[in-house]
Order: sequence, then C-alpha cells, then structure tokens
Amino acid sequence: MIRKLISRVFRGNKNKGNRHEPAVIPVSSHGITRDRLSSGSRRTCETLQAEGFKAYVVGGAVRDLLIGADPKDFDVATNATPEEVRRCFRRSRIIGRRFQIVHVMMGQEVIEVTTFRGTLDETTKKDEHGRVLHDNVFGSQAEDAARRDFTANALYYDPTTETVIDYHHGVGDLKARTLRMIGEPRARYREDPVRMLRAVRLAAKLGLSIDPEAKKPIREMAELLENVPAARLFDEMLKLLTSGHSVKCITQLRDEGLHHGLLPLLDVILEQPLGEKFVMLALASTDERVRRGKGTSPGFLFATLLWHEVLAHWDKMKAKGEAKIPALFQAMDTVLDVQGEKLAITRRIAGDIKDIWALQPRFEQRAGKRPYALLEQPRFRAGYDFLLLRAQAGEIDMELVEWWTRFQNAEGDKRAEMLLPEAAGDKKKRRRRKKPANATPQASDA
Ligand code: ATP
Ligand code: MG
Repeated sequence: MIRKLISRVFRGNKNKGNRHEPAVIPVSSHGITRDRLSSGSRRTCETLQAEGFKAYVVGGAVRDLLIGADPKDFDVATNATPEEVRRCFRRSRIIGRRFQIVHVMMGQEVIEVTTFRGTLDETTKKDEHGRVLHDNVFGSQAEDAARRDFTANALYYDPTTETVIDYHHGVGDLKARTLRMIGEPRARYREDPVRMLRAVRLAAKLGLSIDPEAKKPIREMAELLENVPAARLFDEMLKLLTSGHSVKCITQLRDEGLHHGLLPLLDVILEQPLGEKFVMLALASTDERVRRGKGTSPGFLFATLLWHEVLAHWDKMKAKGEAKIPALFQAMDTVLDVQGEKLAITRRIAGDIKDIWALQPRFEQRAGKRPYALLEQPRFRAGYDFLLLRAQAGEIDMELVEWWTRFQNAEGDKRAEMLLPEAAGDKKKRRRRKKPANATPQASDA
C-alpha cells in the first residue's frame, strides 16, 4: 500500500520537479530511526524546528545511512537565514562571504547549517565556459533539492517524523545502486566541472554505478577541469585520495580519460613509470588505513606521490657532482616549487612532505649516536612508514627496514649491540660534509 503510494509519487515526480510534490518516505519503508543521527545534528534540527523553521539532515549523511555506510558528517539544511540560525544557537558563527553558512557547535561536534539555495537564472555570474562563479541566492526546499548534484545527494531526513523527503527519486536510484545526475548532466558539468570528479569518487566509494547519461559526457567535457581553480581541485583530489578507495578512484579516472594534462596531480601519479608501483602501494596502504579508521596525513600522501620525481632530480644533481645531502635538498625544492604550485599544496603540507623526505638518507646511518637521534625525531614514525613503502616497492633493501624495526623495539643493551661499526671512510666523509655550500640544518646534522 505504502509502496504503491510512493511509486505513484515517484512517477509524477521523475522529471525536473521543482514544483512537484516530493515523495515522503516513512520509517517503516526506509528503516532509518532518528537515533542513527549524531546527537548534534538531531538537536540542531529540533531547535530550529521549535523556533518554527524547517530543518533537515541532508546530503551525504542521509545517502550513507540509506546504503548502510557510516556517515562522515551530518549537515543540516534549513529555511532559516544564516542570521536567524545564528540567533538560535549560542555557540555558533557565520562563515563564508558569498554563500554564508553557519557552524553550530554542539559539544565536540560542529554542524554545518546551510540555508536552502535558490535556482540559478540568467543573472547568475558565470565564467566564459559556463562555470558558476557566484551562487548566493536563497530559495525554497524544492529549489535547494534541484541545485544538488546527484539524486542520492538530494534527500532530506526529518528527525522529528523520521521521514525521508525525496524530490528526485534518490531512494529508488540508491536501491538500484545508481548515481544519477539531477537535471541535464552536460549542463550540470558545465556549471561545475568538479562534479565529474565527485561522480567518480562517490561511485567508487559507495559501490554505485554512474548512470550512462551522466557517465558519457565526462570524457568529452574533461577539459573543463582546466578552468577550475587549483585550490578547489586540490581539495577534491585530497578527498578522493583519502576516501578509502583511492586505487579504485584513480583507476576509474584513468578509464574516464580524466588525466593527461587535466589534473596535474593525476599526471604525477599516472605518468611516472618507475614510480607507479610505489604510488599504487602507497595509495593501497592509505586506503587500508582509512578503512581501519586510522588517520592519514596529506603530507605523507603527497610525499609518496612526488617521491620518484625527487629521486630523478636527486640523481641529476648527484651526476652534476653535488654532494649527496645538498643534492637531495635541492631536488626537494625543485619538485616542490614546480608541483607545489600546480597542485596548490599549502605551505604547511609542503613542510610535512620535506620532513619525511629529509629523513630518508638518515635511515642509512646505523653507526654511532645517529640512529638514537633519529628515533627521537618527531617525524620518525612517518619516515619509517615511508621507508617501508620504498622497500616494498623494491627501491631499497628490505633488510634496512627490518633492522629499524628491530632497533626500535630492542631494549637498551640489545640496541647498542645492533649498531654497525663506524666505517673509517664514513668519518672522513662526515668531516668533509661539515661545510657544504648551502647547508640547511637537517643537511649538516645528517
Ligand atoms: P562526502 O561523503 O564526501 O561528504 P557529500 O555528498 O556529503 O560526500 P559534501 O561535499 O559534503 O559531499 O557535500 C554535501 C552535499 O552538498 C552533497 O551531498 C550535495 O547534495 C551537495 N553538493 C556538494 N557539492 C556539490 C556540487 N559540486 N554541486 C551540487 N551539489 C553539491
Ligand atoms: Mg558530506
């Protein structure tokens, strides 16, 4: 009976649908009870509703709950303006300039509360390729739904009634495990080319297939990504790489033709024959960490993605007669200057990357006091994990990693016994290295 009702609403609602009534799906059908929400998002909705506003949990969280995945965060959508939202919560602040959203602090949680967005029209500012630049009008809930990218992302959950409000057949599409674009895919990619990357990432992460209508244009429209600001691409690529499904995403991006000069980061990943094994291992290990709920650091990730570039430059510098450590530091700077800019790597992440790279030659030193000093380095663990990946990829001998594994875990005396004898040549080399031309602190103590 309910099913019949729902499918009738769906049928009448399949097309564009701003003006159509949405399907209101009861808990008996979708099975998501309000206790599945974070307490912060639930309380945020309840407070706004008590003040007479509409408020729903929206987007990725509803989608993830419906397919049995763990939502990353719970966003709220409302018809209250940012100013009105702010007045409802003592601990809240408005952020953003163009399209303002409100961060509501609930205990440890920060809930992102967004006012329903309105329809784009002729007055919407776009660049010469049709990419939407400003998008700051408020609208109705139906308009808000139509502005979202995929049907599965346009679902609203009301914690009070435990219903899912579905304007675009999202629940049905999710059941069919399909990622379907709302509206005409080409037009939606033109408005925002990043949606192509989102399609690939969400499909890989959620095990959905991209509806052919939405999939077909990706290949032809890929070059529109060139006009997207680097910082936005970086954010999206970082999401993709830390989704827990990076290997699948990267493989699919390659299949969709979304590489070769379009995304500098993908060029780096896919176009280095020597580094491919290393990069794929690194991505697989990141995926594994994400799935086990362990943290990942962008610094570590990018250090792996760019390592073989560093190796190539390092070899060049050494061939020119530069000493080993200064050559490494010059290679690091060259790679970060070139790639860092293209990829919009932030300064802080660049610092992390350098730390990890700079530690690598220090693992080769297994005599005297130096191994002890290395253990005390705050970045030791990341450096060691990096070393392990290098060994797994066949770049260096596994014996070195095994030595460090044992050395870390050995007790005092046992540790001392492990040290290698200081080679005579080693000392001479070290004395010579005391005054390299452009020594950095790490270089001279290495
Ligand atoms: P994730 O699991 O990565 O958080 P998500 O779908 O929640 O996936 P967010 O970036 O958190 O992604 O976006 C929240 C919601 O905002 C989406 O579910 C979607 O409804 C809408 N949205 C995000 N990006 C876009 C976009 N580029 N175009 C249209 N709607 C978007
Ligand atoms: Mg989200």
